[in-house]
Amino acid sequence: MTTATHHEETLGFQTEVKQLLHLMIHSLYSNREIFLRELISNGADACDKLRYAALDNDALYEGDSELRIEIEHDAEAGTVTVRDNGVGMSRDEVIENLGTIARSGTAEFLQQLSGEQQKDARLIGQFGVGFYSSFIVADEVTVRTRKAGSDKSEGVEWRSKGEGEFTVADVERETHGTEIVLHLKEDAQEFADDFRLKSLVRKYSDHIEVPVRMPRVEKARDEDGNEIEGSETVTWETVNEATALWVRPKGEISDDEYKAFYKHVAHDFADPLTWSHNKVEGKLEYTSLLYVPGRAPFDLYERDGARGVKLYVQRVFIMDDAEQFLPLYLRFIKGVLDSRDLSLNVSRELLQKDPQVDKIKSALTKRALDMLKKLAKDKEAYQTFWNTFGSVLKEGPAEDFANREKIAGLLRFSTTHTDSATQDQSLADYVERMQEGQQKIYYIVADGFNAAKSSPHLEIFRKKGIEVLLLSDRIDEWLMSHLHEYDGKAFVDVAKGELDLGEIEGEEEKQAQEETAKAKEDLVKRVKEALGDEVQEVKVTHRLTDSPACVVLPEHEMGFQMRRIMEAAGQKLPEVKPILELNPEHALVGRLEGAEGDAFGDLARVLLDQAIIAEGGHLDDPAAYVKRLNALLSA
Ligand code: ADP
Ligand code: MG
Repeated sequence: MTTATHHEETLGFQTEVKQLLHLMIHSLYSNREIFLRELISNGADACDKLRYAALDNDALYEGDSELRIEIEHDAEAGTVTVRDNGVGMSRDEVIENLGTIARSGTAEFLQQLSGEQQKDARLIGQFGVGFYSSFIVADEVTVRTRKAGSDKSEGVEWRSKGEGEFTVADVERETHGTEIVLHLKEDAQEFADDFRLKSLVRKYSDHIEVPVRMPRVEKARDEDGNEIEGSETVTWETVNEATALWVRPKGEISDDEYKAFYKHVAHDFADPLTWSHNKVEGKLEYTSLLYVPGRAPFDLYERDGARGVKLYVQRVFIMDDAEQFLPLYLRFIKGVLDSRDLSLNVSRELLQKDPQVDKIKSALTKRALDMLKKLAKDKEAYQTFWNTFGSVLKEGPAEDFANREKIAGLLRFSTTHTDSATQDQSLADYVERMQEGQQKIYYIVADGFNAAKSSPHLEIFRKKGIEVLLLSDRIDEWLMSHLHEYDGKAFVDVAKGELDLGEIEGEEEKQAQEETAKAKEDLVKRVKEALGDEVQEVKVTHRLTDSPACVVLPEHEMGFQMRRIMEAAGQKLPEVKPILELNPEHALVGRLEGAEGDAFGDLARVLLDQAIIAEGGHLDDPAAYVKRLNALLSA
C-alpha cells in the first residue's frame, strides 16, 4: 500500500467547505446512506472520463481497460473502501477538488442557508453534496489516487478528519484511479456490512453503466464439509445492473429506477416531477431521457449557472451540461442525450457549429414542451412546476417564436376570476369563460399582485363580469410584448389605448357614452388647459365606476412596469405623457366642474397625481401633491 511518503503538507479547507461540512454533518443525519451514492457516482464519473480520454490515447488504461468500481469493508477495523480504476487525480487536482468547492455561486448559496435543519437538508440537496458527504459517516477519510498515465511515483494521499484541514502527501502508487477509505464513526458501524452495502448499491447505482463489484470470500471444504482454514478465495461479484439506464427498453424500467437515475444526473435529493424517455431512429439517431425537477437549483437565474443535458455519443460520456440542446427558457430540464451521429471528438465549440445539433435541439424542445403538457393534467404536480419554474418558462415566447402557441398553453395566470395570487389559471380556462361577444383576452400589468387586483382599470371589467389576467411578475410585460394572440384571440392591455369592449357593449350604451362625451367637452378642455403638457390628452371615460380618474398609455407605448424596470437598470427613456381619463359619474369630477381658478387647477392636478399613484408610479413632486390634497381636505 503506502510506501515512503514525502512532501507532506497540511492545508485548510476553503471557508465554504467548512460551512458545508458543518451543515451536512448536522442536517443530513437522517439520510446518511447517501454518502455511498455520492462516492459511486464520482467513481463512475472518473471511469467515464478515462474512457473518453483513452479514445485518443489507449496507453492511459495502463493495460487495464476493464473499468470498474470496487467496494470493500472491514467490520473489525470499521472501514468501508470505495475504489475505482478511473482517471484519478494529480496532486494539484486533489487539493483543488477535495479542498474547495469549485462551482460558482457557492458562497452566496451557503449564505442563504439557515440553521433550520429540515430546510437546510433540502437546500443542500439542490447543491449536490458530493465527496464531502463522506464525513456524514466517517470521522476520518483517506484518499489515495494517481492520475492515469502518470508515473507510479506520482500517487497522492489525502487525509482529513473533516475538521477544517487536510493533509496531502506524495506516495508511490501501483495502479491509477482512486481509492477512498472511510473510517466509520462509532455510530455508523452499521455500514461495514455486506448486506447493507449491497442493498445500497442496488438502490442507488443499478443504472450506472460501470460495474460495481464486491468481494465474495469462499473457503474450500474438506470431505466432511468443513471449511478449510487458509483456503479463502475471493471472487468479485458485480452487484449493480451495470447497463446504462437509458439504453434499456422503457417497459423494463421501473419508476424507482428512473427516479434514482435522476438523482444521479441532477445531483438532487428529491424526486423529479416527471420524465420522458425516447429512442429516435431514422435520419437522426439518438436516445433522450429528460426530467422535470421538483425544485429549482440555486443557480437557475445565474448567467453561468449549470444547464443542459449530460451528453453521450454512442454510450461514451462526452460532457456534462451540454447547453446547446435545449433553449434557455427550458434550462431547468435535466437529463441525458445519447447520440449515434455526433463525433466522439465533439467539443463545445464544434457543437455550436454542427447543424445536427439544431435539429436535435428542436426535437428535444418539442419533447420537453409535450412532457409539460402531459404534466399539466396533474393539477397539483403542475402547480409545483409552475411555482418553481413558471417565470423561466415565461421567457419562452420571446426566445422561441415557433413554439409560442405551445408555450402559451403552458402558462398559468392569476385572474379576476379567482382574485387569488396563485397563478393557476390557463389561457384555455380563460377562453372557455369568455363572455358572449367577447373577442379579446384582457390583461393588466402592475408591480405587484395587489396593485394589479385593485387597479381602477378593472372597474368596468368587474362591473360587466369580464375576466382580466392579473400580471405582476417582473417579466410579465416583456412576456406580453411577445405574445400577440392565443387561440386566435388578441391580447389587450386594459391600461393602454382606447377601451374597446367590442360586441360586449350594446349600441345604446355606445350612444350614451358619445352623448356624455359631448356634454363634457367643455370640462375636458378646461382640464387640458390647466394641466398643460403634463398630459397628452384628456378624455371622459366609462372605464371607471368607483375611481374619479385614471391614466392610460397610448397603445404601442412601453408600459409602466417595463419603464420602471429599465429605469432601475440605468436606462434613459424618452418621457411619455399619459392620457388622463375622467369618470363623469364621480362626485369629485362633479365638484371639479363647479370649481374655478386655482381651486380648479389644484383639483385637476390632484386627480392626475392620484391616478399616477394608483398605477404604481412616482410623483416628481410628492410634497406638492400632499399640500394640494390637504388644502382641498380642509377647504
Ligand atoms: P461533483 O462530483 O459534483 O463535481 P464532488 O464533491 O462529488 O462534486 O467531487 C468533486 C470533484 O472531485 C469531482 O468533480 C472530481 O473532479 C473529483 N473527484 C471526486 N472523486 C473522484 C474520483 N473517484 N476520481 C477522480 N476524481 C474525483
Ligand atoms: Mg460527485
